[in-house]
Amino acid sequence: MGLRDRYQARSPGMGPTITADLEQRWDKSNRYDRVARVTDTRRVTDTGTIRMSFEVVDDEPFLLKPGQFVGIQARVGDFGYRKSPYCVLSPPNDERTFELLIRVVPDGPLSRHLASLKVGDEISFRGPTGRSMVPKDDDTTQLCLLATGVGISPFMSLIKVLSDRTFDRPIRLYWGLRLAEDICLIEELDQLVADANDFRYQISLSQPPDGWKGLRGRITESVPPLLETLGDRRFYLVGNGAMSKEMGAALSDMGVSRHEVYEEPYFNAKHQPDPEVVRQIRQRFVANDLFSPAAHQEAGGWSVGARRRP
Ligand SMILES: Cc1cc2nc3c(=O)[nH]c(=O)nc-3n(C[C@H](O)[C@H](O)[C@H](O)COP(=O)(O)OP(=O)(O)OC[C@H]3O[C@@H](n4cnc5c(N)ncnc54)[C@H](O)[C@@H]3O)c2cc1C
Repeated sequence: MGLRDRYQARSPGMGPTITADLEQRWDKSNRYDRVARVTDTRRVTDTGTIRMSFEVVDDEPFLLKPGQFVGIQARVGDFGYRKSPYCVLSPPNDERTFELLIRVVPDGPLSRHLASLKVGDEISFRGPTGRSMVPKDDDTTQLCLLATGVGISPFMSLIKVLSDRTFDRPIRLYWGLRLAEDICLIEELDQLVADANDFRYQISLSQPPDGWKGLRGRITESVPPLLETLGDRRFYLVGNGAMSKEMGAALSDMGVSRHEVYEEPYFNAKHQPDPEVVRQIRQRFVANDLFSPAAHQEAGGWSVGARRRP
């Protein structure tokens, strides 16, 4: 059944308002009819992170923008067909190759299936698709990138592309992991620091070992006290949906426009921000360059439609 039939089945009598062209494009973007072959697969941490390289073996172009993902579909034993998106780790290239950084979830059928693939195996996929993370040329804000776990993946592609384009504004990356054993990609991150105009990164461990010299705690704990200003930054929040939703809500309360916050939850996407957690994050911010409706209200000030508290 095509899109037009599905639409008319749901909306009988509404007429053929979906054009053939739109139907063709919709069907194309939703079909997992592309093929890529595994060219490399390796474990990059002992805690369940793998890095996989692929070459596209169909005849279509592979036009990637940093931040985009491929949707992978596979038949996984008793689970039947499973499909999930994976953000691309590698920057765009002319060779029609791409890399993924995958967290192998202990009960996760598709991630475990991908981890079981060998060099030469093929996958069905669609895309690349999704939003580009590249800021517009006339944008003057600096970039504040917050990732948890494999949420770092699209940032590696983004920073590489921006450094090749001699992007001249500061890029700050904060990467939240649980254990020191979860750390990977350090050589590449250090290379980006060397190559880019003004890129720096910090890792925050929620369960750091003794003697750990980096940031401590979740990034929602360790990062707000580091940001001296908020109004001149664009925020990208990628990884655990609890982090992105709660940090996003706290930034909004601090007066950051929703247009300056890009959220990409990999899981926990339906997480409802806990007001108490959001309040605690808000209170850790030191920046006061923006008018913060929530902080103002907490301090007893005026708010829209409300009277000053006694
Ligand atoms: C836009 C987008 C991009 C994504 N990009 C990546 C990527 O680059 N790399 C990647 O590994 N995953 C990525 N994911 C997650 C991925 O699509 C799958 O959800 C994940 O691989 C689990 O699929 P599964 O079938 O193995 O397990 P599922 O049965 O789908 O999930 C099993 C459980 O694992 C949880 N879970 C899923 N991902 C994680 C994780 N990273 N850490 C801890 N728990 C998790 C789920 O919430 C669920 O409770 C992305 C998701 C989205 C929406």
